[in-house]
Amino acid sequence: MLTLRGPTEPRRGSALRELGIIHDGSLLVRDGVLVEVGPTRRIENLALAHKAVEISAVGRVVMPGFVDSHTHLLFPPPGSYGMNLDAGARVLRAQTGMRLEARARMHLKAMARHGTTTVEVKTGCGPDDGAEMKLLRVLAGLKRESVEVVSTFLLRLPPFGLNGSHPAQTHSDWVCEEFLSKIRRRRLVSFADLIWDEHPAREACFRRFLEEAQRLGVRRKVHAEDTSTSMALALALENSAASIDHLEQATAADAGLLGRSPTIATLLPGASFHRDGPYAPARLLIEAGAAVALASNFNPHHTPTLNMQTVVTLACSRMGMTPAEAISAATINGAHALGCASKAGSLEPGKVADLLILGISDYREVAHNFGTNVVQSTMKRGQLIYEEGDVTPRAPKDLHPTW
Ligand SMILES: [Zn+2]
Repeated sequence: MLTLRGPTEPRRGSALRELGIIHDGSLLVRDGVLVEVGPTRRIENLALAHKAVEISAVGRVVMPGFVDSHTHLLFPPPGSYGMNLDAGARVLRAQTGMRLEARARMHLKAMARHGTTTVEVKTGCGPDDGAEMKLLRVLAGLKRESVEVVSTFLLRLPPFGLNGSHPAQTHSDWVCEEFLSKIRRRRLVSFADLIWDEHPAREACFRRFLEEAQRLGVRRKVHAEDTSTSMALALALENSAASIDHLEQATAADAGLLGRSPTIATLLPGASFHRDGPYAPARLLIEAGAAVALASNFNPHHTPTLNMQTVVTLACSRMGMTPAEAISAATINGAHALGCASKAGSLEPGKVADLLILGISDYREVAHNFGTNVVQSTMKRGQLIYEEGDVTPRAPKDLHPTW
């Protein structure tokens, strides 16, 4: 059993390799919360254990559910509009909330089957208040799903116009002056995120956006991709961002700064794999003492995997992380990136019972698979929400779809 027990701070350096393993471990759950975690011999002798329903995981690995702290799962697949992201945003604006919600539910179920128990989902379809509000309402409608959804408003500024026109400024003003406070008041958002770009005229927009989020008590994140990281990092650190994400272009100097800051470095190897691009320098970041998290970046468009086991595999095979580091980054540090580490990300008394039973006997096998699902059961808040089914031929009379 991997408990990931440890300090209350994000894991860094050698602490990332400490999984708090209990060989022959057990845990006791009451009302969705872990009340005891320890060696089976001790747990089974507790008075509270005598009336408990027993779920056996003999010979298998038990670990916390994955916390996927960076996704865009509301984006539609590219089939209808090709690989152009702006066209994708237009499709998103045109779709009804009901349709978006149905597809999101399908993705959340697939995530539960692959072991994700908490997921962050971003908006980000550009300068359209109605569309952004629609996405946030869809996310609010998903709060009752088995997988916990954390909502993030993503600022995606439009391209600079011709002849000196500047719609980005207009959009950014509207977000700062009206939209952020409205969605905060309605409790539709937990994080404010922005897609950084280096155009000098945008820095003031980004700065104002982050400052306004801070004033409203909305935690902040920054996307730092495709460009040099240093300016985005400076802005993120200056504004005490919860995380800076992507970091494919991070340098040794950037790693040093992150090593001395509380901001989580969230790495997305699935994005690099799908576009055959550079990977974030995970070893450099870990050696510098940065608190590294892993997330899927799932969107059916640019990173079409929602399987955090595959993210762990890529982190090990492409970025040189060890399986233990990758599992810490995909669980407890992901929870820190979402500000929910006091209740999720590890198996410790007092935390919510979000856990997985894996059909393997050694946790390192997670990293040796590629795309294969080894999750046998997923538990969320003490309830089994997924159990692997048998593969059996079905009689024609039983051929009713189950979805
Ligand atoms: Zn992203």
